[in-house]
Amino acid sequence: MSRFFSDKYRKLTPYTPGEQPRDASYIKLNTNENPFPPSEKAIRAGEKALRSLMLYSDPACTLMVRALAETCHVGEDQVICVNGSDEILNFAFMAFCDEAHPAVFPDVTYGFYPVFAKLNRVPYTEIPLQEDLSIRVSDYYETGKTIFLANPNAPTGIALPLSEVEEIIRRNPDNVVVIDEAYVDFGAESAVSLVDRYENLLVVQTFSKSRSLAGGRLGYGIGSASLIRDLNTIRFSTNPYNVNTVTMAAGAGALADPEYTAKNCEYIQTVRAYTTEKLRDLGFTIPESSANFIFASHPDIDGEALYRELKKRGILIRHFSVERIRNWNRITIGKKEDMDTLIRESTDILGGQGDGSPVRMGR
Ligand code: PMP
Repeated sequence: MSRFFSDKYRKLTPYTPGEQPRDASYIKLNTNENPFPPSEKAIRAGEKALRSLMLYSDPACTLMVRALAETCHVGEDQVICVNGSDEILNFAFMAFCDEAHPAVFPDVTYGFYPVFAKLNRVPYTEIPLQEDLSIRVSDYYETGKTIFLANPNAPTGIALPLSEVEEIIRRNPDNVVVIDEAYVDFGAESAVSLVDRYENLLVVQTFSKSRSLAGGRLGYGIGSASLIRDLNTIRFSTNPYNVNTVTMAAGAGALADPEYTAKNCEYIQTVRAYTTEKLRDLGFTIPESSANFIFASHPDIDGEALYRELKKRGILIRHFSVERIRNWNRITIGKKEDMDTLIRESTDILGGQGDGSPVRMGR
């Protein structure tokens, strides 16, 4: 830290992204990326857009806003485009939280929420998940706080039904409820259909997961026109050109190919069911996931030990150093052949190495 770093940020612990190794080729099951490339329509549109990079990108994101409004059946004034959904989450902390409107979210959820809260000096409360890692919906009634809920939740993968999400929104009429639907396309119900009925609802989605554009950085928010106006005030006060021209074109291409997205999401759900069953057969505990990852723990092996052992064998999964989930790992669903390698190596690790004696590591 330099002596010039503002006191405001000296105590900030930044978010730790999952490893993106450049030195070795791993089976990468650690950052919830899609195993398939972007749609050909996205690739072609992105390539074409490269030719106009001498111009600034469209600050109104007209192309994307129009396409998303049509896809989501909302008005164009109910859509905002951002540089990955992380950006809109930060905007939401900036726009809708302060001393009088503290934030609230589960104790086990997306690790960026507490970072954004601290960055923006927003007081926050973490509500413990239940023993089975699910959210107790009534914990979020009449909170008097700005609510951030990932649905499906990360890293558990557990989704709330839309009726329960709606009840939370209905019971907090004077506070904004942000529903982070980064993984919604893998089997959960979206709250987008509710935005016309609740002016306090902001739904956040991304092109990073179901549409294979994580590196493009494209996210968006759908909400009441007044919430979207507030978020645009923040956007135009930070970076009006937040979505670059190539990404915008690629995003529109991806949106124009819903069959490709649906096919890949279906594949991932099938492989998720297969992997869950095989790992449960090995003794893993895995809550029912509605996302493109599963959350797994095993009684005979410490979470970090399993992560390390798999890494030695060329497979990356995600381990979090948060105390409550230290025996768990989040495993992205990749192609079937990669999941078969994971299952084989996990079987080997759990069954012992060579001499047939079972491993008991760290527990
Ligand atoms: N929300 C959740 C729950 C996530 O897991 C992620 C991915 N790390 C994001 C939002 C952000 O995704 P992106 O910025 O790539 O849209």
